[in-house]
Amino acid sequence: MGNSFEAIVVGAGQSGPFLAARMAERGQRVAVIEKRWLGGTCVNDGCIPTKTLVASARAAWVARNAARWGVTIGGPVVVDMAAVKARKDQIVAESRGNLATWLGGLPSLAVIEGAARFVDAHTLRVGDREVTGDRIFLNTGARPIVPQIPGLGDVPYLTSESIMNIDFLPPHLVVLGGSYIGLEFAQMYRRFGSAVTVIERADRLIPREDPEISEEMAAIFAGEAIDVVCGAEVTAIAGGPGDVRVTLSVGGQARTIAGSHLLVAIGRAPATAELGLAAAGVALDDRGYITTDDRLVTSVPHIWALGDINGKGGFTHTSWDDFQVVAANLLDAGNRRVSERIPIYGVYTDPPLGRCGMTATEARSSGRRVLIGKRAMSRVGRARERGETAGSMQILVDADTRQILGATILGIEGDEAIHSIVDTMYADVPYTVLERAVHAHPTVSELIPTVLGSLQPLEGTASPVRHPLGFVPSR
Ligand SMILES: Cc1cc2nc3c(=O)[nH]c(=O)nc-3n(C[C@H](O)[C@H](O)[C@H](O)COP(=O)(O)OP(=O)(O)OC[C@H]3O[C@@H](n4cnc5c(N)ncnc54)[C@H](O)[C@@H]3O)c2cc1C
Repeated sequence: MGNSFEAIVVGAGQSGPFLAARMAERGQRVAVIEKRWLGGTCVNDGCIPTKTLVASARAAWVARNAARWGVTIGGPVVVDMAAVKARKDQIVAESRGNLATWLGGLPSLAVIEGAARFVDAHTLRVGDREVTGDRIFLNTGARPIVPQIPGLGDVPYLTSESIMNIDFLPPHLVVLGGSYIGLEFAQMYRRFGSAVTVIERADRLIPREDPEISEEMAAIFAGEAIDVVCGAEVTAIAGGPGDVRVTLSVGGQARTIAGSHLLVAIGRAPATAELGLAAAGVALDDRGYITTDDRLVTSVPHIWALGDINGKGGFTHTSWDDFQVVAANLLDAGNRRVSERIPIYGVYTDPPLGRCGMTATEARSSGRRVLIGKRAMSRVGRARERGETAGSMQILVDADTRQILGATILGIEGDEAIHSIVDTMYADVPYTVLERAVHAHPTVSELIPTVLGSLQPLEGTASPVRHPLGFVPSR
């Protein structure tokens, strides 16, 4: 196919390959450059492998706790870590293989292996090959952040990538970072059988969520005997293989936590360093993300940035939606913008956290008059029947516009149930549409209309007009 393309996609993450395929289907000559594996983080070391492992961990937990449901396991529950890893590897390999087969079957699309670096705004170097593109789409994702902590470089620490390669049970896993990725691994390994300690710098777990949600998550972790240390500043790390010691300052007091293995899960940074963006004139923001407009065009008009590198998402579905936005605008004469997107995500602890729109904290600081409906999961029939009643659901409504502002469901099926709420938000209709919807019984979703039927003013926001029948929106 030569070295000259109408479009070049750098990075085969969650948007690039799909955009490349759409362009190739139009007959354009397209190159996809990937330095590691097709499918990027989600397929190889993110969503797919972690959720596969979470499923194994849940199976172990259910087996160990089977007596709760009146089921007797006639012997010890043993987790075969090699088999758990093999199952994960197989599912990952299938996903990667399907992608390779699909892309390989597109006649005008070339997959080029290697790391791409800009030579100039239209030229990229991959090994000793130079390729040029009329349009260039960057989809290089993010990588785990490894902090500068004295001693860390001298101990064999794990990241969310390297932990995918282990096929044994760490006797005591110390997890640095009590946010989404850290919590998934912490609970998973506890359920596999490790002792687990989570160390978080903020004063609570998942500090981007509302404080009550952090408390509920902490209670879930306490119930599984996962040690959590919050408000902890790590000052030094020491040790060697199978022996790691993390020194902390907690409230001014020094403390050392000893474990067998260390997982560093304190966040992810955009993978831009290798790209040589200065040679193309592509600008970064002060957090290191590539700056784009609302249609994902960078500071260079023929270069786009999609996925985690643009700082507008950080999830597989947001990267996928970036592809949809760019494809709609470039190929379908559409006019889509990223700012039309409503934030949504799941945290795949068990029970999971489903989130969309604003948190209560954000709603308070928005200056709106806000109503909240809230129910403990212990009042949800389905949760009681399953014997898994941890968590709560809360929905926030603008008292004046009657639009739903956001929701949080921490509880069984919370990652699924959240979608009827976000769909109502996308439909741009008042909350009463969802309040009057009939949901099937017995589901977690059936409580959503009930929660919306019991809205109260959100503490800390201006009060809405009081109606004789209770608090109702002013219109
Ligand atoms: C442990 C973990 C769990 C996660 N779980 C979830 C989840 O449950 N749900 C969810 O929505 N999100 C989850 N995420 C986040 C999700 O994986 C990412 O947001 C998603 O993969 C989108 O990434 P992307 O398309 O921006 O690029 P990526 O998927 O990161 O792919 C980027 C690709 O670019 C390649 N690349 C980088 N630099 C170059 C270069 N110079 N030249 C050529 N190729 C290059 C990389 O090798 C990589 O293959 C998780 C992430 C992690 C780490």
